[in-house]
Amino acid sequence: MSRTAIISDIHSNYHAIYAVMTDAFEHERCTEVACLGDIVGYNAYPSTCLDYIRQLNCPVVKGNHDEEVVNPRYEKMNDLAREAMEWTVRQLSEEQLQWLARLQYQRIVRPSGGGASSFTIVHSTLDQPKAWNYIINANDAAGNFSRQFSQLCFHGHTHVPKVYMWDGRHSVEDFDVKHRLVMNGYTELQPDPRFKYFINVGSVGQPRDNDPRACYAIYDSDANLVILKRVEYDIAGAQAAIAEAGLPSYLAERLGRGC
Ligand code: ZN
Repeated sequence: MSRTAIISDIHSNYHAIYAVMTDAFEHERCTEVACLGDIVGYNAYPSTCLDYIRQLNCPVVKGNHDEEVVNPRYEKMNDLAREAMEWTVRQLSEEQLQWLARLQYQRIVRPSGGGASSFTIVHSTLDQPKAWNYIINANDAAGNFSRQFSQLCFHGHTHVPKVYMWDGRHSVEDFDVKHRLVMNGYTELQPDPRFKYFINVGSVGQPRDNDPRACYAIYDSDANLVILKRVEYDIAGAQAAIAEAGLPSYLAERLGRGC
């Protein structure tokens, strides 16, 4: 049996990643993990989160924050972003930065177990993974499908969970999936072999779709099932840690709003 927990945009939120992985391993019986990047940035535990992801020994791709922290372009940041970035850089060792620098932009992941089909992971898009473009709608997603050679590709970056489908000619968004996730905090999707899917798994550590709960996906390759779900975590604890670290209070407030 192979069930892969697919996590993205952890952003130094240890309270959130701990709750998500507990849910994945203990309640959802996940056997594998794939990480779509942006491990660091914004919140109070960059080093702890990076060490946590590394000990999972799972496939990881690079996010824009993972890239930026290695080579910060402070001149392009506003005061808040620069303050948070300078703080994050100080928390990481040279060895940790080198590990982030070596991450690939996209990877093919083959789940264990006979007959399981492989899938692709990328932080932003497959057509221009280093440009860090934001996929907001089905039109934006069309370019990705031209470079997607597996039925399923998982991505993050916008911090908003969504499912895009490609029928060979058109890119469309599956609004039913989104609606069910909003209503129930949980939704299942059975991929149709006639379509390709480009699935945004949402954000573990800084959701931006007005639901402050952590979000992640599960791919059950035996059952041909993709699950998107929300997980409660200790938001107050994460906010207190931000205050204690002296990071901008706006970063704590937005965790409470989920935006
Ligand atoms: Zn991010």
